[in-house]
Amino acid sequence: MARHVASPVQPSFGILLASSPPPAGWKLSKPAPANKSATRKRRAIRPSACPKGAKAAFMKRVFAVLLMALSLAALPFESRSSGPDVSFSSDAMVRGGLILLKVQGCESDDLQVVWMQKEIPLLRGRDDGALRGFIAADLNQKPGVYPVAVRVPSLEMERTFEIQVNDRDYGVRKIRLPRAKVELDDASLKRARREALAVSALWKADCRPPEWEGSFWMPVNNKIVGAFGQRSIINQKKRSPHTGVDIRGKTGTPVRATNAGTVVLAADYFFTGKSVFVDHGSCIFSMYFHLDQIRVEEGEQIEKGRILGSVGATGRATGPHLHWGVRINGARVNPLTLIELSRELEP
Ligand SMILES: [Zn+2]
Repeated sequence: MARHVASPVQPSFGILLASSPPPAGWKLSKPAPANKSATRKRRAIRPSACPKGAKAAFMKRVFAVLLMALSLAALPFESRSSGPDVSFSSDAMVRGGLILLKVQGCESDDLQVVWMQKEIPLLRGRDDGALRGFIAADLNQKPGVYPVAVRVPSLEMERTFEIQVNDRDYGVRKIRLPRAKVELDDASLKRARREALAVSALWKADCRPPEWEGSFWMPVNNKIVGAFGQRSIINQKKRSPHTGVDIRGKTGTPVRATNAGTVVLAADYFFTGKSVFVDHGSCIFSMYFHLDQIRVEEGEQIEKGRILGSVGATGRATGPHLHWGVRINGARVNPLTLIELSRELEP
């Protein structure tokens, strides 16, 4: 574990600590640069007015005075006005799940949130000025308790919270496919490997500035016919789990972008057929597979709801449907959880 998350973990979960006065829960820490990948990811944090450098000492004195004041009189939570308030939409999630983190009362532009050794991109709300970010657990994340470190280097402060990642039985799906689509010949295998490399390059790139805003929308408003996370048994053999949701749709039904972003990949692939990958910034990606037609180009900036293509059955599909996937900070998560959590981001 990186040293910046090594501080003693609080005895209770994040949501319970959210309203605590900063001096009681925060510990002083030497400002240390985040690790390499975290430094790169910081770019996505939106700049804002914030105390830095010389102001840090002044702010420390302010906290000291506040600490004294709080020890003399037990103030109601509402009266505690200084220091960042960190809250989580939940203190636990399942593998493949998501938690929305909110930091209020922090003007600082150097606040860092580190989870699974990656810095979480934060977005400052236009209306309330709060910073928000998604804490995501990959579908294959080992269940356990993991720390979330919240640091304000300019104030030399750090606080660590615990998030529980639980296991979940997502069930099984059994699929029958033509043999050639499962047992690949040399040419198909080479092609599939080349395509997998092109896709994995997307996850290795730096986080881009946020283009997404507000809530995320369903790309096709229809029934879910294939749930997220199911273990797959194809032609009686165990295969990779289902990393997205399958949405019912007739061939030709328009598929819309779940949020604003940039099309970073639009190609016809062996497994996923005609596929569109959208980078929404903040290391949030959405993927749309098995399309009949693609109606956008790589590099194109798109608005929320923009038609990306149409439902089809291209690639390795048993029939027309939309496979929709989401990745957040590298983690494969349930897109429906993103829709649910992002509702509160709507002004
Ligand atoms: Zn699917």
